[in-house]
Amino acid sequence: MTVGNMERAALFDAGKKGRGLRAIKDLKSGEVVFAEPSFASVVFDSFSSQVCHSCFRRQANLHRCAQCRFAHYCDRTCQTASWEEHRQECVAIKKIIKAPNENVRLAARVLWRIHKDTGIVSDSQLISVDQLEDHVADLSEEDLKQLKTDVHSFLEYWSYGRKQHSVDYISKIFGIIQCNAFTLSDQRGLQAVGVGLFSNLGLVNHDCSPNCTVILNHGNQSAVSSTLHSQSRIELRALGKISEGEELTVSYVDFLNLSADRKKKLKERFHFECTCEHCSQHIKDDLMSAVAECKPSAEKVKEVTAFSTESLEKIEKSRTQGNYHEVVRLCHECLGKQDNVLADTHLYKLRVLSVASEVLSYLKSFPEAADYAQRMVQGYMKLYHPNNAQLGMAIMRAGVTHWHAGKIEVGHGLICKAYGILMVTHGPNHSITKDLESIRMQTEMELKMFKQNEKAYHTMRDAALMGQPIASSISADDTIKGHIRKK
Ligand SMILES: [Zn+2]
Ligand SMILES: [Zn+2]
Ligand SMILES: [Zn+2]
Repeated sequence: MTVGNMERAALFDAGKKGRGLRAIKDLKSGEVVFAEPSFASVVFDSFSSQVCHSCFRRQANLHRCAQCRFAHYCDRTCQTASWEEHRQECVAIKKIIKAPNENVRLAARVLWRIHKDTGIVSDSQLISVDQLEDHVADLSEEDLKQLKTDVHSFLEYWSYGRKQHSVDYISKIFGIIQCNAFTLSDQRGLQAVGVGLFSNLGLVNHDCSPNCTVILNHGNQSAVSSTLHSQSRIELRALGKISEGEELTVSYVDFLNLSADRKKKLKERFHFECTCEHCSQHIKDDLMSAVAECKPSAEKVKEVTAFSTESLEKIEKSRTQGNYHEVVRLCHECLGKQDNVLADTHLYKLRVLSVASEVLSYLKSFPEAADYAQRMVQGYMKLYHPNNAQLGMAIMRAGVTHWHAGKIEVGHGLICKAYGILMVTHGPNHSITKDLESIRMQTEMELKMFKQNEKAYHTMRDAALMGQPIASSISADDTIKGHIRKK
């Protein structure tokens, strides 16, 4: 695949929304509209020693840069690949001893790159990064305060080099990062570990029900011959058929919020009024706030809603503290109250089900986790676009949980369903899709065995589970919101 291929999309005037990208030929479901390496990217502060600063894979035993002792890499290949990006940073960090925060590090990388290559780094790049929207003029007082602090810390950091910049220009770069940077997740798609600026992606406008999705492909740096290595890059992928001329859109926020809440988030963070069809017609708001079929009284609904809000806060707190048994207790209590009051598509119920299934999986209570995961996925399927990436990941989790619970028939069915979605949203070359493919082959084999001889199947399964650590892609600090722009 050619990275930076722009044969399928072009810049156009999207009216009130400003600039946008549109398809210049008919696109198929799952087609890569374009792929692009980051203009600049950094690992989050909290993961600086756990994630490779070149390919963003999360793994143990990374090698530390001997100079600054801050950057970490899988191996020589990754270190060499990103030396150009790290060279000046390395000197700057060594000089000030403690690395500045991720925002400042990213702004500096953007500016070093602009100096080196100017703002345009390839023929397929449509505009220079410093021409992206910055919205500095729309920042709230609180955001402005943060910006001032960041600019101050930037100036200390950037004292290296000849070229100096005005505070206005530096602020503009921070503004561009704030509204255009894309969160990068680890190779399993479970955790947001970094952030990058992608110039063409920055031109894709938002829609709450978009026709494209964006995914980070970490590339392949493991082949013996480095000529077979591919660069880490984002891919903009079509979620269904797109006709020539149609605007290309992605969602900047998770769809599983009421339209008013999505609009509020978009306004606060990206400074625009969402006028998409789903927001203006409040599509699916009714399902996301529905009450149970037995028609509980308004008073009861109010009481349970308030209880749920409180519980969700407590659940989050216990989860952050790693108090997983308390999380499970709170989830049970909350789900009990919600029974016969809130519908299965109510957002509060889905949020509790999501945490419950995840934490119970982590605690290896697979049968119970599987039941909750199943209920969650059924709710999600009524709300999300059928090819939504978060939906695919949730179904994958539910499938793996069923598999671990020994519910091979349902498990295999879910895994196949997830595979179908991930082939569109992540593509066949993504590490998650490849992992899922091998799980799918395994469950297919087990299902055959199960159908032939149930007893033999259970014996085999017990042995397999004893012999190897469970190949679970579920972690307790998993977030399903790995692919939104906000960090
Ligand atoms: Zn690496
Ligand atoms: Zn270094
Ligand atoms: Zn909207």
